[in-house]
Amino acid sequence: TGSEERRAKAERMFEMMDRFLKNDPISLQKDILNHVEYTVARSRFNFDDFEAYQGLSHCVRDRLIERWHDTQLHFKRKDPKRIYFLSLEYLMGRSLSNSVINLGIRDECAEALSQLGFEFEVLAEQEGDAALGNGGLARLSACQIDSLATMDYPAWGYGLRYQYGLFRQIILDGFQHEQPDHWLNFGNPWEIERIHVTYPVKVEAVAYDNPIPGYGTRNTITLRLWAAKPSDHHDMESFNTGDYINAVVNRQKAETISSVLYPDDRSYQGKELRLKQQYFFVSASIQDIIRRFKDSHDNFDVFPEKVALQLNDTHPSLAIAEVMRVLVDEENIDWDRAWDIIIYDINFNFVDELKKKIGLDYDRLSRMSIVEEGAVKSIRSANLSIVCSHTINGVSSVHFELLKTKVFKDFYELWPQKFQYKTNGVSQRRWIVVSNPSLCALISKWLGTEAWIRNSDLLTGLREHAADTNLQQEWQMVRKVNKMRLAEYIEAMSGLKVSLDAMFDVQIKRIHEYKRQLLNILTIIHRYDCIKNMKESDRRKVVPRVCILGGKAAPGYEIAKKIIKLCHAVAEKINDDSDIGDLLKLVFIPDYNVSVAELVIPGADLSQHISTAGHEASGTGSMKFAMNGCLLLATADGSTVEIIEEIGAENMFLFGAKVNEVPALREKFSDVKVNLQFARVVRMVRDGYFGFQDYFKSLCDSVEGGNDFYLLGSDFESYLKAQAAADKAFVDKEKWTRMSILSTAGSGRFSSDRTIEEYAEKSWGIEPCRCPF
Ligand code: PLP
Repeated sequence: TGSEERRAKAERMFEMMDRFLKNDPISLQKDILNHVEYTVARSRFNFDDFEAYQGLSHCVRDRLIERWHDTQLHFKRKDPKRIYFLSLEYLMGRSLSNSVINLGIRDECAEALSQLGFEFEVLAEQEGDAALGNGGLARLSACQIDSLATMDYPAWGYGLRYQYGLFRQIILDGFQHEQPDHWLNFGNPWEIERIHVTYPVKVEAVAYDNPIPGYGTRNTITLRLWAAKPSDHHDMESFNTGDYINAVVNRQKAETISSVLYPDDRSYQGKELRLKQQYFFVSASIQDIIRRFKDSHDNFDVFPEKVALQLNDTHPSLAIAEVMRVLVDEENIDWDRAWDIIIYDINFNFVDELKKKIGLDYDRLSRMSIVEEGAVKSIRSANLSIVCSHTINGVSSVHFELLKTKVFKDFYELWPQKFQYKTNGVSQRRWIVVSNPSLCALISKWLGTEAWIRNSDLLTGLREHAADTNLQQEWQMVRKVNKMRLAEYIEAMSGLKVSLDAMFDVQIKRIHEYKRQLLNILTIIHRYDCIKNMKESDRRKVVPRVCILGGKAAPGYEIAKKIIKLCHAVAEKINDDSDIGDLLKLVFIPDYNVSVAELVIPGADLSQHISTAGHEASGTGSMKFAMNGCLLLATADGSTVEIIEEIGAENMFLFGAKVNEVPALREKFSDVKVNLQFARVVRMVRDGYFGFQDYFKSLCDSVEGGNDFYLLGSDFESYLKAQAAADKAFVDKEKWTRMSILSTAGSGRFSSDRTIEEYAEKSWGIEPCRCPF
């Protein structure tokens, strides 16, 4: 048969693969220069940093392609069960450093470049971020794809290649403005356009493949992103009407489907383009997955043994309907059989089953229905996903509890066995090895091995050295160098000089009311107010702080934008107050993205994850800070609950209402005694102490007069106590350093390698498939 012939051919080619590109500095140098001359078309005697970056990235990409081809051939030959990871968002950040580290050629590249008169770090800075996502969910996809490659899983990531990624945040007079992110303007060496891999989805979906290398393995998997292109077959009719110009213009409109990422972090309701994007994405991906399946199989009965689909949130939930459509309409498989094939462990009709189980409880039936009845019918993507998936995963234990008891209570009662949780994780390769090379070297030195880069559990080995004064000194040195790097960035960006002796206190993440940046800013005002009213002798006891905030607000999210403005207004007041000096500084870092995170996280002493309990599904920023030895000031929300188990409450600064206390606090809003200190700082903002009195009124209203849904007022007192505890601990350098080492030591469980292994075993039923060379 055709597929056997293809397999035999693949086998022959596989055996011919014995010549690999060389990775010694001289060979790398030759390849870099060749790319400068022949790919970039610059003279090899005259090129600048950006052109050198282009030459280098093509040289690295050649090596990726080599491994990538081998991996794909190997997968084809072995035909394992594959996992397809579908996500509408990926926050990949930069690729160069991560690639050379995973390829194991970082030092060789640096040497090759230095002989040419270039510095690796400087060239790495030339690369722009691939910011095809909003926040946590999108960065999670990026970390998970890294883990899938590193752990040798036969995996494919699918996503959209937005022409414009997440908007650039520009700050003018303290206000956020949004600018388009022209990330493709200078080319993107990390992708390979597959002009021949296209699928009709009304328009045409063209594949752009991004090879994703694993660490410590040759395995290099594919992240395939779809771009919309006008189809040659589509709309020929309009060309025949004589209106040539409009016909061409209309063709170009097809490209708008993948033109822009929606910048809203949490809600995407009712946008036609968004729905089109989702459908375009799942349709192209499912056609591709089924095409690959049919390349090696003639019978759909084995489909469930060969294919697992992971939907990242409900955004790709249309994939379920699309698989059915393709199987029924295009593969002519009858509906019941198609249903059995896709959701092989669900062999009954949802509503009938439901009626049998719960009787004619119409309220509950309508709550659980996939179709929401109303003036306009709508599809509940969460219900569709639950009904049609065999597993629904919470992303932390707190989130799992909320799914079971609140969000999907009805479904949990019906199918408790479908619900599981796998706590999120992050890649220690990106968040220590790439972003904090000196800490990476220090950890390897003290553990006596680099094996923790693939096996993060080994980080616990640092515990036994936490009190060792030699490690402590080296640890402090590394932290200081990272703080210096961050201080230089702050100065270059804002002109503000900050003291390295101050505590660097960081809150960087999307701006949301539930994440409570406002609580942080109000407390900074409180700190300022206290210092202003102190006697000189008391001032000497104040622990100096540099408070650093950063994050983007969705363009239409007014309150979030006001929070950004308030931060700037307060910063202006404090930083200009010579009476305060180094005791307190406030900085807003604009345009927070992955590469900014890579710079800021290693330089932070304290980081804040202070969402109202019950609102953060997981949070992954906290894990990166903990890995880098930063202490957490946090509420018992999302994954923090598990971080406490690993790092220990005594090594963190915890405060605030617990998840189960929140509803009662909200119910008795009006009875709660207003914290006087809280009232005082809100009053300062209201009275125009920081200017913009009218503009900030609604912000103040949002936390007072019975409106304080996120409980800033009721958590204020315990937050101040936790802040004071952090100050006290910071003064004791030995104690702080020990806590810092113990943070890193306890962070191993929060590697995305662990998360992916749990998914592989418990949800996907897949095995590693390691490329032999
Ligand atoms: N945005 C970016 C650019 C990130 O790098 C991260 C995490 O590292 C996040 C958002 C998520 O942060 P958090 O979990 O603190 O909301």
